[in-house]
Amino acid sequence: MQDNTLIAHESAEALAASSTWQRQLSQAVRDPAELCRRLALDDAWLAGAGAGDALFATCVPEAFLSRMAPGNPGDPLLRQVLPLGEEARAAPGFVTDPLAEAEQRPAQGLIHKYRGRALLIASPTCAVNCRYCFRRHFPYADNAPSRAQWQDALDYLREDASIREAIFSGGDPLAANDKQLAWLVGELESIRHIKRLRIHTRLPVVIPDRVDDALLGWLGSTRLQTVMVLHINHAKEIDSAVIDACARLQRAGVTLLNQSVLLRGVNDSVAALEALSERLFDARILPYYLHVLDPVAGAAHFDVSDNEARELVDKLRERLPGFLMPRLVREIPGEPSKTPL
Ligand SMILES: *Cc1c(COP(=O)(O)O)cnc(C)c1O
Ligand code: SF4
Repeated sequence: MQDNTLIAHESAEALAASSTWQRQLSQAVRDPAELCRRLALDDAWLAGAGAGDALFATCVPEAFLSRMAPGNPGDPLLRQVLPLGEEARAAPGFVTDPLAEAEQRPAQGLIHKYRGRALLIASPTCAVNCRYCFRRHFPYADNAPSRAQWQDALDYLREDASIREAIFSGGDPLAANDKQLAWLVGELESIRHIKRLRIHTRLPVVIPDRVDDALLGWLGSTRLQTVMVLHINHAKEIDSAVIDACARLQRAGVTLLNQSVLLRGVNDSVAALEALSERLFDARILPYYLHVLDPVAGAAHFDVSDNEARELVDKLRERLPGFLMPRLVREIPGEPSKTPL
């Protein structure tokens, strides 16, 4: 009787814990007016926020919001998520599918551009909507396969023995539930030539509670080598909860890397980039890529010129050890890899 009570109690607790990140996601701030109100921004910001929101929905979870400074419209975290009227302004060269991904899909949910690795769109949604995102116009509704619909993609991977690495992407792949992800990993494990699983995600940063026992269960027990590429643009994104989440991932054997996007008004200074690398290493994450902005319609106000980007990185190199230097790259459609600048 006592045992039963204990079991009932434990499973209720486990249930509550496992729903925490989902609850946080469902309670994210999606109304731009609320975002402005919460951060005590004056009404001038609100008009633009409504216009930007109509183009790409606002989504900011509380855990991310809590790291922003109220009353500062230039806060580097806020800049990444606050919709602006400027997003409606057309800019030459800024288009809806800058990476021409629409042409690179051999099967539903699969993008195969580079030798040896293929990318699976494991979830159509994200935990945060980043205004500079190159997928802000992505037709996600067509790309969230069910189990049956994954078969073509899995067959494709099975038949191409050159593919050693499967990459979960999205959207944010960790917005999918763990049952679905564990199933997909199981399918990949059954393909002998696949040895690595890489996950590109922002969720452990945006909602650190996403790194829960259910996630660590499948991630920590797979035969595949596991790499997680986080997406962090500013040192202030890394608080103690993020550091704890990273420690849990590392204990489960996951190698942690980071990619950033160079963004006007967010991290376009040597000091900001230096602080980011230093803070990443506090969480034992190594910098991987620093991307120049993909020219996606609605994001031109984030653009930093190539020359300025090169100058910033040259100066950064004088301040950091080599292992804390991200590689400055651009993605050019049709090229066989990312292109160094
Ligand atoms: C960026 C990308 C990759 C990974 O490239 P790496 O240089 O290995 O990080 C793989 N597939 C696609 C489609 C990509 O866009
Ligand atoms: S795909 Fe990444 S960059 Fe784009 S909105 Fe989602 S989390 Fe942000």
